[in-house]
Amino acid sequence: MDTAVVWFRDDLRLTDNPTLAEAVATAETVVPIYVTDPRRQGDTRYGTAKRGPIRAAFRRACLADLRHSLRERGGELLIRDGRVEDVLPALVADLEVDAVYAQTTPGTEEQHRERAVWKALPDAVTIERRWTHTLYHPADLPTPVTHIDDTFTPWRTDLEKSDVTVREPVAAPEEIRLPPDCQNPGELPRRTTRAVPEDDRAVMTFDGGETAGKRRVESYLWEGDHLREYKQTRNGLLGMDYSSKFSPWLAAGCLSPRWIHREITRYEKERVANEDTYWLVFELLWRDYFQFQLHKHGADLFTPSGIRDCEVDWRRDRTAFRRWAAGETGVPFVDANMRELNRTGYISNRGRQNVASFLADALEVDWRWGAAYFEERLIDYDVASNWGNWAYQAGVGNDSRDNHFNVLGQAEYYDPDAEYVTTWLPALEGLPPEYAHRPWRASETAEYDLELGVDYPRPMIDVEARYEELENG
Ligand SMILES: Cc1cc2nc3c(=O)[nH]c(=O)nc-3n(C[C@H](O)[C@H](O)[C@H](O)COP(=O)(O)OP(=O)(O)OC[C@H]3O[C@@H](n4cnc5c(N)ncnc54)[C@H](O)[C@@H]3O)c2cc1C
Repeated sequence: MDTAVVWFRDDLRLTDNPTLAEAVATAETVVPIYVTDPRRQGDTRYGTAKRGPIRAAFRRACLADLRHSLRERGGELLIRDGRVEDVLPALVADLEVDAVYAQTTPGTEEQHRERAVWKALPDAVTIERRWTHTLYHPADLPTPVTHIDDTFTPWRTDLEKSDVTVREPVAAPEEIRLPPDCQNPGELPRRTTRAVPEDDRAVMTFDGGETAGKRRVESYLWEGDHLREYKQTRNGLLGMDYSSKFSPWLAAGCLSPRWIHREITRYEKERVANEDTYWLVFELLWRDYFQFQLHKHGADLFTPSGIRDCEVDWRRDRTAFRRWAAGETGVPFVDANMRELNRTGYISNRGRQNVASFLADALEVDWRWGAAYFEERLIDYDVASNWGNWAYQAGVGNDSRDNHFNVLGQAEYYDPDAEYVTTWLPALEGLPPEYAHRPWRASETAEYDLELGVDYPRPMIDVEARYEELENG
């Protein structure tokens, strides 16, 4: 084969990137390309942006890093603007390309785009699609993806009982040969004109790209030695090391889960193997599970009634939704998390579960509005993980539970000193924890100088009564 194109998507890495490795091994010359398709930057049907400025800046840095790494090996990263089904066929014709290699992922829009590209390519061009973003390859699963259980635990138990193993990561190519007529690399996406907030309360600085992703693995596993206590710390709320923070790099494909798995295995051999080290693999299995579930259920995941077809009369209350999104509900644990999300693009898993439950369970607002808002804001947004977790939390997805989270109880348990809420809501500083989590009680005593509606919002609902109602059926 003379020339192959590698169409980079959410796989912005060199290490363990099978599309790149196979193209380099098979073709004389290779043309890596990334297409900034305007449809990834528009609005969702819910009026939210598909990608906010924080994730846009992260992605730009991922592309700069990828381009740098490709250049170091003699290659290049072409960057082109436009609809991908127009850009790729034009490139293929220009450079007389024989094959196109690309990652395939289960998102419905991603699938749609992929099909449009394949349709637009001439028959003579070979199409090489590879599933490259999960720990386990779907072809290796004991049960075909289309038939996997809709509950996580039986699926995981079957997998772990089987003799299926994680495939070995493939090495980064040492050299990339570009065709001689491959000119004009193209500009990185423009810096976003919308401000990217900086906030020293952020859990950490997330620099985009494979180089920074690997640095984070080095720092979390090897230098900090935090994996040995991951299960015990993972419900934390403040700081860099209560959890791995690998998610932004996994979502953009700067890190491959198989490569992380190999690092965990090495850590288990060289340092310690315990329940905590296993638990990071367990979480990567959750990630796989949501990917396979999206593959199985497709567009059904995005419906109000979800994959289980549960009839729920969701409220479409824009005012309630806006207060939730802005972190102005008057319920501190919800507001602190939403403000952290808005300022930094990241919140803990515990925080995500609570704000999602508050919107869907306590306010009964359409869960899809919340999922779309996360899609805009999260630095680690991933279609399967986000919509899958939201549907789960709203009671219309996998493992669905009728149980809501009692946000007040959760706050008192996971933030006993109210350090987290006061970090994000300085108006509540100085209140004892029981009042910082329930400021409406503080405002009833003369002892504390807190005026609700002035210093901090009045709660939008009687949240204590609401949880009593939910708890008593
Ligand atoms: C409502 C809601 C929305 C979410 N949206 C996203 C999203 O868009 N993108 C995303 O990557 N995660 C999402 N999650 C899952 C989880 O909250 C994040 O992966 C995690 O908080 C990221 O931090 P970490 O890398 O430090 O996680 P760690 O605790 O260190 O976990 C390691 C890795 O395991 C995976 N993982 C952990 N928990 C989950 C989970 N529940 N579902 C899927 N994968 C998981 C992630 O890839 C994560 O990086 C969501 C969870 C909820 C409840």
